[in-house]
Amino acid sequence: MERLAIVRHTRELTLLMTDRDTIMCIYCLEQRAPSREHVLQESLGGDIVIRDLCVDCNARFSAIDQALAESSVISLDRLMARSGVRVNLGPTHLLFDEDAGLWKDVRIRNRFSPELLPQLHLRGNELSIVGADRPSIDALIDLLRERVAKKTVADIHVKIDEQYGSSRITRPRPKRRDLVLRAPSHDEAGKLVRYVQDHFDEVEAIVAGDPVASTIENPRVHGRMVYDFNASHRAVAKVAMNFLAYSLGAPYVLDESFDALRNYIRGDDLRIPDVSEEQLAIDRRFVAWLQDAPTIPRIPDRHTIYVTNVRDALCAVVVFYGKKTFLVKLREADHDVDPIGRTFTFDGTPSQVLEMPEWVELLQSRERFD
Ligand SMILES: [Zn+2]
Repeated sequence: MERLAIVRHTRELTLLMTDRDTIMCIYCLEQRAPSREHVLQESLGGDIVIRDLCVDCNARFSAIDQALAESSVISLDRLMARSGVRVNLGPTHLLFDEDAGLWKDVRIRNRFSPELLPQLHLRGNELSIVGADRPSIDALIDLLRERVAKKTVADIHVKIDEQYGSSRITRPRPKRRDLVLRAPSHDEAGKLVRYVQDHFDEVEAIVAGDPVASTIENPRVHGRMVYDFNASHRAVAKVAMNFLAYSLGAPYVLDESFDALRNYIRGDDLRIPDVSEEQLAIDRRFVAWLQDAPTIPRIPDRHTIYVTNVRDALCAVVVFYGKKTFLVKLREADHDVDPIGRTFTFDGTPSQVLEMPEWVELLQSRERFD
């Protein structure tokens, strides 16, 4: 690694002169207190931490980290791969209960095991209350009781799902003290709100009677996954930048030749193209998703990064779960600096040297960036 620590720029001098309680943030270039940043975010299994960015940048990046975990092409892989960790994937999943004829809210856990959320349905004049277990239903009722007492039922956040027939109040996460109202229309939502406000005794009576905890055999779950390519691409670029800082030290990436990438990751210079309705409006200057890249069967549940010169640019290949491959253009190629000729897993496994000639060949032969 030491052979790569070649830095020539004045920013290094600034860095060396500061006391050790502050760092020069590799994203905003300000002298600030450091924060802990995972090279690859923890929710994807990353456990390597750098301290080269400031608290503000760290906070600012949580939205793009979330986009990568939940609104990107790797979201499903994340569910399938991390069986030992509880993963909840947002935002909304619906499960059709054929017996009840209702679309019910669920959250999705690893390997697609759906968990029924506590919810109250009103269809026509028929009221039903369901949930996976009794305590979660009781907690839903407690929250509703509070709202009824304060007459704030109408303030519950409303989501309109035109396709689905019933109106329902859901408690989205057992730990979260909040409720969401879903309805086919605002009229239906208003009807449910009035019903709960005026007939809460009836609602409580239903809960007091039969236990209504339920499970559903062979559920068909309908997920709605929204891809946010611009945010998740920026998060992938950040993984590559973090990795360089981790491998070669912060001064390396403080070089001004990384400024364009830095501004892109920060969202300060995002160039969304004008495209027709059939095309995706993605800033493709720095990150490309390589849908036809070879997979890495040896490490299917880990992530790999490989830095090399591709054509005229220094690039990082970032592979998630051995199969979702992204190419990140870091800067113009610098032939004075050797690329990092190794792959890297983020789960604490010692670095392995893997030869990837097929990748390099693939990458060399393509024009990947606009
Ligand atoms: Zn910063």
